[in-house]
Amino acid sequence: MPADRLTVVIAAHDEAQALPLLHPRLCAVLDTLDGIDGRILYVDDGSHDATWAVMEALAAQDPLVGVLRLSRNFGKEAALTAGLDFVDSGAVMILDADGQDPPELIPAFVALWREGYDNIYGTRLARDGEGWIKRATAAAFYRVIGRLSKTPIPADTGDFRLLSPRALQALRQLRERHRFMKGLFGWVGFRRKAVPYHRHARLVGDSKFGLWRLWNFALEGITGFSTAPLRVTTYLGLAAASFAFLFALVVVTKAALYGDRVAGWPTMMAVILFLGGVQLIALGLIGEYLGRLYEESKQRPLYLVDTWQAPIVADSAAHPVGGEQGHDHGSTAVGRQVP
Ligand code: UDP
Ligand code: MG
Repeated sequence: MPADRLTVVIAAHDEAQALPLLHPRLCAVLDTLDGIDGRILYVDDGSHDATWAVMEALAAQDPLVGVLRLSRNFGKEAALTAGLDFVDSGAVMILDADGQDPPELIPAFVALWREGYDNIYGTRLARDGEGWIKRATAAAFYRVIGRLSKTPIPADTGDFRLLSPRALQALRQLRERHRFMKGLFGWVGFRRKAVPYHRHARLVGDSKFGLWRLWNFALEGITGFSTAPLRVTTYLGLAAASFAFLFALVVVTKAALYGDRVAGWPTMMAVILFLGGVQLIALGLIGEYLGRLYEESKQRPLYLVDTWQAPIVADSAAHPVGGEQGHDHGSTAVGRQVP
């Protein structure tokens, strides 16, 4: 029976110190997997440090390692998309470069894949090395998006996951510009299964996702997977209009009964300011969606490739048609076109 191909895709931005620590662990784990043709694909997401040099060195030592360098920093979501696009065949395992997702768990994911699951994701039991603010905001975010969106987005789940070949093919068809990967993984569906795990602290360095970036990330998630805010605005408008109508009745009746003595300037100011505020919020909200529509309509590629170096090892007999079909070196394509 031919071995099943599994490619571990790792997006890295300024992880020159973490990669040399992670790589041996990863190789050790892949070696223990029976019947699995393990590969590793490192994606350099426009690092400013020696990450690319480290990756090239790893690829030179290890024929199973492929390396991909993007033309600049496109963000983790785009870097992952690029990595997934350059996987020829088989399943993929997505891992953080910083060691927060322990590679030692890969056999557990593979076992579930063997059982027939397609979309196997790691769910965090604990978040070592993360402050309470990050934990609390993360928890709040998952609750909100869980309510707002019809797409199943499991709580405390990151990008640490295994996708079967068909789930990977499905995911590749989603070419939207604003990529909220957690949501996209959920959207794909198929047979899903959680693997609870303890999220470790980073091996070295600091997280690239500060609170502001996480806030924007949350906006991305909500606008990408729910139009509920737009609908809420409608209801808010209806509520404000009903209130204004009642208020007008009161004012007119009062004027009819007691005459109009040009009083009520404070009330008027309050109403004007309140309505002005509500309208601005509504406009801002519409703007959020409109802006995304605009980005989408430009149809720019999701990322640009600087250098692509496939694993040196020859394709095994299990993948005769595989190989480097269509990898245009240093090209500008959106990665590979999806059939
Ligand atoms: N990352 C990336 N591009 C970026 C930012 C981050 O590829 O622009 C990678 C980073 O190297 C790491 C992973 O995404 O492998 C997660 O990043 P980080 O550890 O900073 O985020 P956190 O784990 O705190 O959510
Ligand atoms: Mg991390």
